[in-house]
Amino acid sequence: MSSRILPMASYGLHAQLPASFDHQATGAMGECERMFYWRHILGRERSSQDRTALNWGKTMHTVSEVWETEKNPVLVQETIEKSLDENIEDKYGRTKGRMFEAFLKYAQFQATNPIEVLRTEQPTLLTCDSGTSCPYFDGGCGLTYGGRIDRVIRWQGMVGPLDIKTTVMDDQDPISEYRPSHQFQGYVWVVSHLMNDHSWGIIVDRIVTNKSKIDIKRFPVSFTRDNIREWVENEKALQARIHHLYETSPEDETAWIQNYFRCQKPWPCPFRDACLAPRDGGFRYKWLAQHTVERRWDFRNPDGDEVTTPTTEVNV
Ligand code: SF4
Ligand SMILES: [Zn+2]
Repeated sequence: MSSRILPMASYGLHAQLPASFDHQATGAMGECERMFYWRHILGRERSSQDRTALNWGKTMHTVSEVWETEKNPVLVQETIEKSLDENIEDKYGRTKGRMFEAFLKYAQFQATNPIEVLRTEQPTLLTCDSGTSCPYFDGGCGLTYGGRIDRVIRWQGMVGPLDIKTTVMDDQDPISEYRPSHQFQGYVWVVSHLMNDHSWGIIVDRIVTNKSKIDIKRFPVSFTRDNIREWVENEKALQARIHHLYETSPEDETAWIQNYFRCQKPWPCPFRDACLAPRDGGFRYKWLAQHTVERRWDFRNPDGDEVTTPTTEVNV
């Protein structure tokens, strides 16, 4: 005999479509539909999780902007102090002190490898309607997609968004690691529409930081027009499937397919216990209510601030 599952609302959970689609949202849908459901339809996030990996990348990003505009190491130090939780237990040694060392090395790197900033980072929501021709399709893409598009820069004659990637591993072939890439191809799609021409790709500053070294490299990652066309088709299919599942099964997570290949890699999925808890008796909902908080992701306001950077909304 199975017990009745109480409606999720009685656990303080409710289903809602994301306000817009960006890499965080449809990227998660591509990884595991169930993960997307927990994170972006129920809008849940683990209340206590090791956030060092996430905050490390975000802080490095902010630090580089502070340095670019202020050129003041004291302000950089204050930013690190404010943005990064001290974690001396981190197995890769990503402490506040190490972040400052990485910043110094990155500032040196930038001084010897100068770039020209053509456009500052801005949240951008772009719509390419059907019926108008665009860099990819004669009849337009028929897609709305957005994201925080990084600074567009000129470097060695190349123009493209600069993305700062922080990592702990020094892979042998970083360019192929980012090809194909849901995030980067999405950037190219947005920038190409802004420039009304297929943009060749992304410039990556890759900062490897671990206990034994800090290593920085800059390299371009290019994509063909076909790569971006395929990205458009995939993105449309993902968004259509999200809408379909949301309309047919907003309160039935079993309709959102589990991808067992994602559960542990590249890092353990934070929703594993929700997937493993018994469905009967509302145990999954109970777990979500106890171990997660509602924090809906919106790239236009990633930190839930009251004052936000204005979003550029572009229709092409
Ligand atoms: S535990 Fe596995 S199946 Fe469940 S949401 Fe995470 S990745 Fe998907
Ligand atoms: Zn288009």
